[in-house]
Amino acid sequence: MATRGFATRAIRTGQDPCSATGSTIVPVYQTATFTQDSVGVTKGYDYSRSGNPTRLALERQLADLEGARFAAAFGSGMAAVNGACSILAAGDHIVATKDVYGGTYRLFSDVFPRYGIATSYVDMCDLEATRAAIRLNTKLFWIETPTNPLLRIIDIAAVAALKRPGQFVGVDNTFATPYWQRPLELGADLVMHSTTKYLGGHSDVVGGIVISDDPDLHAQIAFHQNAVGAVPGPWDAYLTLRGAKTLALRMREHERNARAVANFLDSRDDVAAVYYPGLRSHPHHELAKRQMRGFGGVVSFRPHGGAERALEIAKLTRIFNLATSLGGVESLICSPTTMTHGSVPAERKAELGITPDLLRLSVGIEDEADIVGDLEHALDVTLAAARVYAIA
Ligand SMILES: *Cc1c(COP(=O)(O)O)cnc(C)c1O
Repeated sequence: MATRGFATRAIRTGQDPCSATGSTIVPVYQTATFTQDSVGVTKGYDYSRSGNPTRLALERQLADLEGARFAAAFGSGMAAVNGACSILAAGDHIVATKDVYGGTYRLFSDVFPRYGIATSYVDMCDLEATRAAIRLNTKLFWIETPTNPLLRIIDIAAVAALKRPGQFVGVDNTFATPYWQRPLELGADLVMHSTTKYLGGHSDVVGGIVISDDPDLHAQIAFHQNAVGAVPGPWDAYLTLRGAKTLALRMREHERNARAVANFLDSRDDVAAVYYPGLRSHPHHELAKRQMRGFGGVVSFRPHGGAERALEIAKLTRIFNLATSLGGVESLICSPTTMTHGSVPAERKAELGITPDLLRLSVGIEDEADIVGDLEHALDVTLAAARVYAIA
């Protein structure tokens, strides 16, 4: 059968009607254990840490969206990063994007060294620097693109071309989602998501997933999933499965609104910088166009007037809730220095350009006029005071 379209797969894959009852919707199998017909004779499940039908439906759905056969769901995005890294052993080395997600930085820097796993952080937009960071014991390249919060773009295919046999490329595809970017098609071996963000899509559930098309890699990750047990419960799996059904619809709206926001901010003289890969002025716009089918829903910017004005704007918005996280239907604004990158040392943040005047927007799917109007109001109200700061 020809491969079905993306929206169809999101709604159908792993979600056949229940053979026992005809239930159209995958039920929430809220059970810890499964009764056996006789010792060792099961209907495919024996204990919900090892396998649960609601979770399996989610794994099938999300694997298919990335064009892969296998997935392992986890109780959070960080548990999924850890799950992806279960292919590593003491003595192995990771080459990671220098501006990886703060929680990933903490895991790689403060946890893995205790288990004998070292990480080099490198600007992966610079292929020569990436090549130079490779060691004899490098086993994993860890890519995040677009990066958080400055939306820099890394060339996945070019990094994948650097790997030698026995090395693997993992991509945190949380920001782009499979609707806009499919890393496995570009040569990556593993894709990881914080399903808390766009895949769940409603800011009501924390979760993660690791997807691959390689049976050996998947076997190692599935072993870790059961051995360590950081699995999502059936309700969490159900909420994520339900949310992901509308991914295509939501991503189109997120992007339409994000473009409007980026263009609006770009048109203002009182905004010093706008970061959105869809803007022609973005330094990696051409690469983003090649690698992604769309540019996503996150926009960052620096208003003139420094940190003081930025914090005032974050406090004033009403459609944009002041909250960490992203990818839900509602718009959120945050100050990355303290809210998402609190665990990253100050000098490192400064080096990455994550300074207190920076604001990150997760543009939701409310009406465009309300979203843009909310920002316009906050910018206008703080403008007069900003002139004062600029003189002071
Ligand atoms: C949120 C996030 C994570 C961590 O996921 P949790 O679900 O919060 O554990 C990892 N990577 C990226 C890019 C994220 O945005």
